[in-house]
Amino acid sequence: MKLRGYYGTFGGAFIPEVLVSTFEELIAAFETAKADPSFWGEYEHVMSTYSCRPTPITFAENLTRHFGGAQIHVKREDLNHTGAHKANNVMGQGLLVKRMGKSRVIAETGAGQHGVATATMAAKYGFECTIYMGETDVLRQRPNVFWMERLGAQVIPVTDGSKILKDAINEAFRDWVSNMDNTHYVLGTACGPHPYPEMVSWFQSIIGREARKQMLQQSGKLPTRVYACVGGGSNALGIFNGFMDDPVELVGAEAAGKGLHTGEHASRMASEDGSPGVAQGYKTYFLQNEDGQMKETHSVAAGLDYIGVSPILASLGDSGRVRFEAATDQEVIEALSLTLKMEGLIPALESAHAFALAFKEAPNLSKDDILLINQSGRGDKDIFTIADAFEDPHWKRFIQQKAEAYGA
Ligand SMILES: *Cc1c(COP(=O)(O)O)cnc(C)c1O
Repeated sequence: MKLRGYYGTFGGAFIPEVLVSTFEELIAAFETAKADPSFWGEYEHVMSTYSCRPTPITFAENLTRHFGGAQIHVKREDLNHTGAHKANNVMGQGLLVKRMGKSRVIAETGAGQHGVATATMAAKYGFECTIYMGETDVLRQRPNVFWMERLGAQVIPVTDGSKILKDAINEAFRDWVSNMDNTHYVLGTACGPHPYPEMVSWFQSIIGREARKQMLQQSGKLPTRVYACVGGGSNALGIFNGFMDDPVELVGAEAAGKGLHTGEHASRMASEDGSPGVAQGYKTYFLQNEDGQMKETHSVAAGLDYIGVSPILASLGDSGRVRFEAATDQEVIEALSLTLKMEGLIPALESAHAFALAFKEAPNLSKDDILLINQSGRGDKDIFTIADAFEDPHWKRFIQQKAEAYGA
């Protein structure tokens, strides 16, 4: 018997008794929507009129010439409204919330990108919206907090634990327990208890469905390898889903931070540091110590800085269907710099991990090979981090002037 919501030994739904009926309601709504062809049509209509879908595939001609090996193509999820693939998930869940007749949404957010996307969806559909965010993140991600509040959401700083993403997730579940009747929890990635991993990757599969068709139309064949960065795993599963049954190699790019042997990274699959465990309602590879305490993670990309990984990817990693590699902060900044100058593309720091790996492998392949990189988001949001990494003196002066104007 295949247990519901399990992928090999990973996944499951470890939830408090009081939430069981709410999860059953969500599973039923999702199953009904999946079986109803008009639902996917409605979803595609929303995404094409509100979020620039289908997003194009761009041939990176200059980078291809520069590396002199495989052709490099880029799937442009950066062109979505709010700047990343996160729109695919939140708009899809928003349609389900309408079907379930609920009036309020809550979400967790780390760097704030998922919070902004959820607040945007709530504004469009007229839902009340509460976003849980670790207090540490509220302080360091003020631009996203500013937008969430302007979009009409209430942002609640979480002061438990280390005051970051995992603590915000726990607090969102606490809210849900008290407000199940009118509230839906919009989880931001393909993690958490069943049905979230399956549901989020189903909405994100719009990326891979488009990409497969576009590659055949534009190049007359499928890519040799597909690269995607892996935080929780939603953009990766989204594009991988289009090629799962094809002879296409799938490569997940994790954050090697300061290096896999420094302990300061966020690699659960490519490093030796991840181990199976149960936390936050599901079983997967976590970065934890022998007592099951979660470790601190590090990455230049806030969106890849998570202790767990999708149980679907954990299983695909163990079976060998997906190969996991990791790129260091330094490699990522170099890949970003090159992509900016040679193609005029501005990948998010998260997405630049996938670029860095593709750049490493492109020179060893032939001109007939095609590499497809998922550009999960745009890097405008990263201006503070990137300017620091480039040690731009004029940027520093600009920030100092601002501070002086405010009397600092
Ligand atoms: C949030 C985010 C990610 C990481 O999330 P996944 O669920 O792993 O896709 C990657 N890229 C961008 C641009 C993001 O905003």
